[in-house]
Parts: sequence; C-alpha cells; structure tokens
Amino acid sequence: MVDEYSLPRVFIAIFIFGLLVTGCEKDTAGNTVKVLADNPDIEWPLHGRDESEQRFSPLTKINDKNVMDLGLEWSYQMGTYRGLEATPIVVGGRMYVSGNWGVVHALDAASGEKLWTFNPEVPGHWGRYGCCDVVNRGVAVWQDKVFVASFDGRLFALDINTGKPLWEVDTIGKQSPYTITGAPRVVKGRVLIGNGGAEYGVRGYISAYDAQDGALVWRFYTVPGDPSLPFEQPELRMAAETWSGTEWWKIGAGGTVWDSMTYDADNDLLYFGVGNGSPWPRAIRSPGGGDNLFLSSIVAVRPDTGEYVWHYQTTPGDSLDFTATQHMILADMTLKGEVRKVLMQAPKNGFFYVLDRITGELLSAEKYVAVNWADHIDVDTGRPVKTKSYGAESEIVLPSPAGGHNWQPMAYSPETNLVYIPTRDLTGLFALSSEWIETGSLTHKPGWWNIGLDWKAFTDLAESTDLDTLPISHGYLKAWDPVAQKAIWSFQHSNAWNGGVLATAGNLVFQGAGDGIFRAHQADTGDILWSANIMTGMIAPPVTYSIDGEQYIAILAGWGGSAISAGDARTSAAAKYGNYGRLLTFKLGGSKPLPVLPERNLPVEVVEPREFEEEDIRAGALVYMEHCSVCHGSVAVSSGVLPDLRKMSAGVRSQFKKIVLEGQREALGMPNFSDLLSEKDVGNVYQYLLYRAQKLSIEQLKGPDSEVAL
Ligand code: CA
Repeated sequence: MVDEYSLPRVFIAIFIFGLLVTGCEKDTAGNTVKVLADNPDIEWPLHGRDESEQRFSPLTKINDKNVMDLGLEWSYQMGTYRGLEATPIVVGGRMYVSGNWGVVHALDAASGEKLWTFNPEVPGHWGRYGCCDVVNRGVAVWQDKVFVASFDGRLFALDINTGKPLWEVDTIGKQSPYTITGAPRVVKGRVLIGNGGAEYGVRGYISAYDAQDGALVWRFYTVPGDPSLPFEQPELRMAAETWSGTEWWKIGAGGTVWDSMTYDADNDLLYFGVGNGSPWPRAIRSPGGGDNLFLSSIVAVRPDTGEYVWHYQTTPGDSLDFTATQHMILADMTLKGEVRKVLMQAPKNGFFYVLDRITGELLSAEKYVAVNWADHIDVDTGRPVKTKSYGAESEIVLPSPAGGHNWQPMAYSPETNLVYIPTRDLTGLFALSSEWIETGSLTHKPGWWNIGLDWKAFTDLAESTDLDTLPISHGYLKAWDPVAQKAIWSFQHSNAWNGGVLATAGNLVFQGAGDGIFRAHQADTGDILWSANIMTGMIAPPVTYSIDGEQYIAILAGWGGSAISAGDARTSAAAKYGNYGRLLTFKLGGSKPLPVLPERNLPVEVVEPREFEEEDIRAGALVYMEHCSVCHGSVAVSSGVLPDLRKMSAGVRSQFKKIVLEGQREALGMPNFSDLLSEKDVGNVYQYLLYRAQKLSIEQLKGPDSEVAL
C-alpha cells in the first residue's frame, strides 16, 4: 500500500509542494455593442462552457469513429516558458486566452491569426508572492468586454475589439501579499473575482464589480476579522464562534477564493470554493479548536448582493492545506429514484462530494484516491470521521497538500453520466513548526511562506533521500460514477501533474499530460483512440468549438503551476524539451506539422572537485528549502520549468549575489530577496548549490561500476 503511494516523496508533495456574433445594435449611450446569438452550444463562451461548469460539449463532428484523423490545424507561440493554465474562451469566431501574469491574446479561432494582445505590465517582483507559479486560468467575455485579473490583483475590462483597457480596479490594495490566478466570471452584470495568498498570510474574500464601470457592488469575507470590531457580514459572527485561542485576524487566517465558481440560474445561487487556513495547522491558527469557518468550504450566496444562503465545510478545522477551491459541477441526477439538483466537487482532501445544491445537504461522499486523514464522511452529520489529530506529532498524510485533485478542471458527461477527474496519489508530511512548539507564540514573517510547518524537518528529509531511487508518483484520469460513488475506468499517467479534462457528445474525453502526450479516450470505456506527442507538458484543460461547420479542439501547452516545485523531472516533457508555451488547435484532417522541439541536455559546468564545510551546506540547504525550493525545486532539482540551479553557467554564478540581493533579474520574475536574506545566507545557498552541482557532475561522470566516492 505504502509503495503504491510513493511514501518518501513527501518533500516534493509538500512544496516542496457561441455565441455567434449575429449583428450589432446601439446601447443606451449610443455605442456599438455585439449581440450574441442564442446558440452557445457550438462555441466555448464561459469558463466551464456553461454556467454549470460541466465542460461538456454537445459537438459530435469529431467522435469515437473518426478521432484518429485528428491533426494540427494551427499553433500559436505564447512567448513564455512558464506554466499555462487558462481555458480559452471562444465567442463570435474569436478566441481570448490568457498567459502568465494576466497577459491576454485575442486570436481568430479558425486560423490562429493574432488580433490583439494586452499586457497588464505586472512588476516582476510580485512573482515572489506566487505559491505556485505566475499562472492565470483565463478571461471572461461578456457583451463587448473581455475581463481579466492580473497576477498583482488588478481587474481589467478590455474592449473586445481592440484589447484597450476600458476600466481597471485594484482588488487587493497591495498592503498584503495577495495574488490573482483565477478566471473572473460574469453573473447578472457583475464581475466576480477572488484572490490567493493564504500561504503568505492574507484574509480571503470574493468581490463583485459592476461590469460596466468597475464599481464595487459587494464583497464577501470568508473568515472573520477582529471580533471586537463590527463584522462586515452577519454570518461572520457565527464564523467567529468557530475560532478560538488566539488573535487569528492578525495573521490573515486564509480562506482565499482562488479558483472555483459556479452559478445556478434557476435558483439564482452563486457557489464559490474557499481555500485553506493561514497558517496551515489549526493548532497554531486556532489552538482552542473549532471548525474555523468558512475555511475549506463551499459557500452559496445571492449573486446580486453577496447575501449568504448556505455553506458546506468539506474539512472542518483543516490543518493540511485541504482547499475546497476545486472545480464544482452542477447537474441534475437520479439518486434513490428521485431527481436531485446536485453540486459535485472533488476537493484536495480526497473525497468526492455530492451535495443538494439548493440546501447544501450532503447526499454522499466517498474516497476517490487514497486517504488516511479520515475514515469516512458521516452522511447524517455531514462531517468527516477523522483518524488523526495533527498536533506536535509528525504525520504522513494522504493525500498530500497538492491534493488528490487540484485546480485542473474535471468534466461531466450527461451522456455517460460519468465525471472525469484528473487525480494523483502523492504523500505529504505534516510536521508542526518546531519554533511554534518551543515558543507557543504566533509568528508571522511578512513576505515569507507562513504555513506553520517545520522547514527543518522537510530539509532533513529531502537531504537524506536519494531522488533518483524514489518511486515515480502517478496521476490518473478517473471516470467516476457519482451515483455509485466508484471509478468505472482509470488511466495511469507517467507523471503526477497533468491537465484538465474535456468531455464531448462524440463519446470522447480529452486530456493533456505532463509528459507532453495529448490523448483522446473513448468516454464510456477509457480506450485511447488518439494521441499526439506535442513535446510540451500540459496542465490546462482543452476546449472545443465549431466554426463554419468545422469542429476544433484547442489546448494550451505549458507545464508549471504547482509542478514547478512538485513536478518530477524524470517524467516531465519540460525537463526534456524545455517548456515552450504554445496554443495548439486540431481538426479532422488537420495537416500542419507539429513544431518540433529539440531535446535539451544542459551540461553541468565542470568544476574542480572540492571539499565543503558541512555547516555551510546544512545552513544553505535550509535557506534554499524555505525560500528557493518553491520555484526551483526540492534539493535543487528543477522540474524543468524554472532554471535548475545546479546547472548555472559561469556567467550566472558570477552574478549570483546581484541576482538574489539586487534584483538583477526582477523583470523576469526572479525577486530581490534583500529584505529576507543576508549576504551570509546567500553565500551559504551558493555553497549548497555548488555542492549539489558537484554531486550531480560526479553522478553523471561515473559509470555503473565506478568507485568515485562523494
Ligand atoms: Ca494552499
């Protein structure tokens, strides 16, 4: 059992962790606005194609009988080598897609021809506040505007024809390390957007802005502020009663709404998912216990006002980064002979939930991956029956903080009645901050990862483990029967970090993988009917649309996101080919050659073997782990997205201090760490990297029988 789930890989998992344009009319101000046709079925107008976020297309021109004839029609260079997570929006024959930082590209969806681009010009130093790369999950299109949120928390309305900003609002105030990676949604003329940053210590909320002028309409805070002050919303009084034993509001408390939203128009309910606490362990955040509402919860509100209607907390009193921000799907299904309006979610914690979406009542919950933190979910109380306490004792955790399922969207086919979930089995380690155990006091270091765990424990574990001998962790595409609550078929990937999913009425399911293979499965059986090696790892979900009777399948390729730290270089296309971001669009009979990427094999600069001071290496390893590993990879082994620092050129080495302490590469997203790190820290990290490089170069030089010793 343990082998199957790659027990020693803990340090990696821990973060180490159609609308058709049919015409124009004048609005009241006399401006020309687009009128959208009432046939959204043939395009991809909303984030999850429709408001229920099923990610199911009724198009059937490409189907299980002919998908083997799929070929490339066009490709577009995204101009980045970092992670790409966006769902392209296709409306009126045009595609609107975002890249890193919130850059937007508008393309002709049939030809790939560029129409315009928009760059929010995010200052590179804000990259430091990304837990998981400088990604963006997409735009929203509504009437004559395209909406996008930039990585540094600004929300923009762009002219749909030119990409010129019509209005811009700062949604975060820049006082705290918030970021935005999620896609806005537009419901009833309001632009909805949340934010991220719980790992650094922020207070989560979701805001609604008037789509016409950017005026703030309402804001819903997910965690209570100082209870001695008036609460912003009445239900925060109830929430505050579930926190105790500390001044949680001084450390933000977390609960960011960084991804998932769904809207039920029939019942006028907006649902959003809430993230983890800040810091992670409840023992620190709320030592007196309690559920800590609304962390790790699904919340239903009225979209006009933000008025609270119900909530369901997936992980009460969470200590494990078990966010409930994962994709939610709305569907009507027959359960025990009765048609129920349900909401489905597979949050990080490993259970697949089916809720009554009118009331929030739990209908069923079962494990969709290996889980050891809870035995089961009690359907009568709606609460997990826990197996562990997560206090001073270190614990192995399944799933890991990376989640049994993360943000990569799943898909639901109303034809097969199956949910297709991109899952993974990774193991995490819970080790409470030794500093906190010793002092019992709440420490919050601005600009640091304030997750309340013990970096030293992770460093020791990582340094004592031989990466190359660890079993490879796997991701899966699981076809899940939400009524029977069990997998019908499952496909094992060679890599743990793979893409979101698309289901179509052509009895097909499409998914891209971290190893660079894009596949079409038969939806009912899982058989692979078509695949293409596109040489760039994929985490984004594919979309499909039809123009002039031709059906297209489009996907963003570009590995990254959490994979920049948690990905395995041994199986990633990024490590093998670089990570060139591109948008690829396929159709039946498409015959454009796939742009071939050369294999790269970066050499390690050969250096004279030398002795290192053990004390410097240990000190450098700890600083590296705490401040560098989240982007550059555990034990200085990059997943292939950002530079592998063991392979620094002589030129980079000579500039090392300037890069880290003077911000020489800040514009590229490599932050200036002069406020956190001393010259001595940087010197130790440098020594540590040389030590790691030497270890690698000796490994590369020695044959299988070599007696070279380290
Ligand atoms: Ca988190």
